[in-house]
Amino acid sequence: MKRGFPAGVIRLLNRILGAGVKPGMGLEEENAINKANLVYLLVGLLALVVLEELLRLQVYGFFPIALTMLGSSLLCFGIVARTGRPFWPNVLLLGGLSVYFLVRTATGGAFGLGYIFTFVLPFMYFFACSLRTALALLLALLIGLALIFFIPGDPLLAAGYSHALRQRIFLACIFCGCAAILGEFARWQTQQRVSVLMRELAESAKTDQLTGLYNRRAFLERLTYETVRSIREKLPVSIILLDVDHFKNVNDAHGHGCGDMALRYMADIMRSTIRLQDTAARWGGEEFILLLPETTLEGAAILAEKLRAVVEGSPFVCDDVSFGLTISLGVHQYDHGESLDANIGRADAMLYQAKQEGRNRVVCRKA
Ligand code: GH3
Ligand code: MG
Ligand code: MG
Repeated sequence: MKRGFPAGVIRLLNRILGAGVKPGMGLEEENAINKANLVYLLVGLLALVVLEELLRLQVYGFFPIALTMLGSSLLCFGIVARTGRPFWPNVLLLGGLSVYFLVRTATGGAFGLGYIFTFVLPFMYFFACSLRTALALLLALLIGLALIFFIPGDPLLAAGYSHALRQRIFLACIFCGCAAILGEFARWQTQQRVSVLMRELAESAKTDQLTGLYNRRAFLERLTYETVRSIREKLPVSIILLDVDHFKNVNDAHGHGCGDMALRYMADIMRSTIRLQDTAARWGGEEFILLLPETTLEGAAILAEKLRAVVEGSPFVCDDVSFGLTISLGVHQYDHGESLDANIGRADAMLYQAKQEGRNRVVCRKA
């Protein structure tokens, strides 16, 4: 069995990388903070490794630099943890690091290999910063390298690099920059796809697959929202519960496929009849429910009657066979003194009464 990280390590890493994430932040913002904290963590660890090596070799001249690196990473981490904004800490830390590695390049560093770390910088820029900031930092790095390597007379260069080596270092830095840009582009593309998928997923969780209308859960959310709003703004809200009459006969006589098409046809009629601010949903089976904000019982009854007449007057055609459909409707104006379930129960009682009284009709009564 493949073993993952121990839970304690994951918790600790999540706490460190997530420091500065505030409730309500978007995925991109959270991601930016996580990545910035990871860079501070790595720079801090690098400083600790360097400090340990300096102590071991008893070379104290570089101590201030390693301590500055450690202090800067801690400072940046602290700023992001407080403010949740990684822009300036990133510029400060990566800018400082770039200057340091440019100086190492110019002086040659240990064994004349001081330039090695400059190749890592472009990846850090594009990993931690926004595209624009990373491009600006990359440009500054390349300008710095060009000034060190290519000013005639080498006033800024202490190390004895050959001309061929200078050109290759410069080209390798451009290459690393391009690779970092491509990596960032691939990450951005994936992020876009994930965002689209999440949006689609959220949408399909609210939608009835057959009709494309809201499903019961999404309707209840909307109803709760509208009832709270209607209390605050002292506005009426009405609901209509409607059911296709003798729908079992449609399935029996014309097949389940035609039955499904008939339900979609019903949804189309509802969509084209209600107002933009109204909500239509499939309540279950061949039963639908409508939410009518800012509508009194009288207004809702007018719409219910209009729907009934449209359905009755629009024969449905399936497999070249035309047949009539009718609906029964129960109308109810929301009563804030009662629970949500009780209110829907009232509309259901009206619908039941419409069925009892012979179907193809509207029943409404004042609460
Ligand atoms: P009533 O006038 O009393 O409402 O009679 P009815 O036949 O419409 O009611 P009943 O509850 O007896 O039958 C409902 C039918 O609706 C039975 C069921 O197969 C059908 N139905 C429910 N959901 C779907 C669906 O998604 N597609 C199809 N084709 N039929 C469905
Ligand atoms: Mg029915
Ligand atoms: Mg039914």
